[in-house]
Amino acid sequence: MKKKIIIAVTAVLVIAAVIAAAVTLNAKPFAKDKADTEELYRQNVASVGYENAIDTAMPQTELYNTIKYHFEAPLEEGKTEKKAIVLGYDGCRADILAEIDEANSGIKALTKDGAKLLLSYCGGVNYPEKNTQDTSTAPGWCSILTGVWADVHGITGNDITKTMDTKTLLTSLVEDKVADSSTFITRWKGHFDRKNATYLEEKAYCEKNNLPVSFNRCENDAASHAYTLEEIKKADCADFIFVIYEPTDGTGHDNGFSFNNPEYKAAFKTQDAYALEAINAIKARPTYENEDWLIIITADHGGIGTGHGKESIQERMTFAVVL
Ligand SMILES: [Zn+2]
Repeated sequence: MKKKIIIAVTAVLVIAAVIAAAVTLNAKPFAKDKADTEELYRQNVASVGYENAIDTAMPQTELYNTIKYHFEAPLEEGKTEKKAIVLGYDGCRADILAEIDEANSGIKALTKDGAKLLLSYCGGVNYPEKNTQDTSTAPGWCSILTGVWADVHGITGNDITKTMDTKTLLTSLVEDKVADSSTFITRWKGHFDRKNATYLEEKAYCEKNNLPVSFNRCENDAASHAYTLEEIKKADCADFIFVIYEPTDGTGHDNGFSFNNPEYKAAFKTQDAYALEAINAIKARPTYENEDWLIIITADHGGIGTGHGKESIQERMTFAVVL
């Protein structure tokens, strides 16, 4: 009698456990970052078709030089004006480019036109040596905009205001008179719209000196994108446009920076479609044929789990598409 009861109870428990496991599996198709190994990351990065390798990735500070040289170089024959745009994908990992939606991709549109597709890194000098800089938003974008790491620009983390000892390209290109105007478009308040924001002092400096440098914070990514399109469609649009889209960063923090997270992939595709619209708007400018455009898509840092800031390859590697 006792044995029968034990067998029956055990059977019920086993069935309950199987049901519970099935329900759990169903509820969580994305197993957080469990399978997000460095090995998988390297495999996916290898399938993207980058021109360089992880160990020869370009420091993100190099983009500063690319933009500066573009404006300083003499105009080609037939061209009357230099223009540049940076379409920033906040928190976008380099492996996710293996998932491009070819029909609706800014990155694909640029590579079709002959853009360089490069691995880049954030987090301070000499990858894969130990990084010297947080793989965070403010340090990353500031390194791209100033061409130096945090040991020089001073932005070792978010919520630190940069001094004017180091100026961003937004200001220096205008002051050097190689660009007529510049604009910074983003939704995150931490750039220039709250206490201790990174560019508070630079914004005040530009206002005080009546420089044609505008800092525009939008309510959300759709608004940032609409603002960007509006700017591009102006006959006399800013010569240097710096826009940051944040779907990948927001989704990564909410439920995972991972190649295995379908929502993270969807966020990437949303902003890559934004970029395509921006690129198409540039090409549709009536004066496009006479303009010399530099178009860059890049990221400030990657991510792992639901965060970033440290030195895993997933956080530290980024990418740059340069046309
Ligand atoms: Zn970021």
